[in-house]
Amino acid sequence: MSKTVFLDRDGTLNREIGFFGDPNRLELLPGVRTAMHRLHDAGYRLIITTNQSGIARGLYSERDLTAVHSRLHELVDGLPLAYLHCPHHPEPGPGNDPGYHRDCNCRKPNPGLLHEACTMLKDFGVTLDGATVIGDSARDLLMANDLPITKILVASGKPIEDQRCKLADAGCAPDHEAADLGAAVDWLLR
Ligand SMILES: [Mg+2]
Ligand SMILES: [Zn+2]
Repeated sequence: MSKTVFLDRDGTLNREIGFFGDPNRLELLPGVRTAMHRLHDAGYRLIITTNQSGIARGLYSERDLTAVHSRLHELVDGLPLAYLHCPHHPEPGPGNDPGYHRDCNCRKPNPGLLHEACTMLKDFGVTLDGATVIGDSARDLLMANDLPITKILVASGKPIEDQRCKLADAGCAPDHEAADLGAAVDWLLR
């Protein structure tokens, strides 16, 4: 059985502070490093999937995002197998980069990043069967709607009540709700 966990970034691994492209503003949430070690030690592959429309909005560059992810990678002892992001935004706007303006399939809640991970990392045994998604936003779980994936909503980022409503409206029921990543891992490894 595949043991892959797809982790959201902002509000799940690091504090939700809105758009940022400066590694110095990355603040890991309490317990995240330990939780990731527990998953890794239990044989899970860790893949980060994140919407980064700040790139399309002209707020920071792909290079800035790489620097943020390098910092994150250091802070969690190099455990993640991959970092996948959507740089796009579907709406044109002042300051937006037209090169990133598109209605893509990789912006969560679309499932594109999950499929991209499977294609890119199939040699590592990554498949969707038996996988898990963990995130603080409804769209982190909705990207796995209708897929055979365990869905865990965490309360460490966006207000959880709003996310519950969005999930209910979309007919998507989380398999579990947890206070934070540590508690999500407690449940997953129970
Ligand atoms: Mg998030
Ligand atoms: Zn995209």
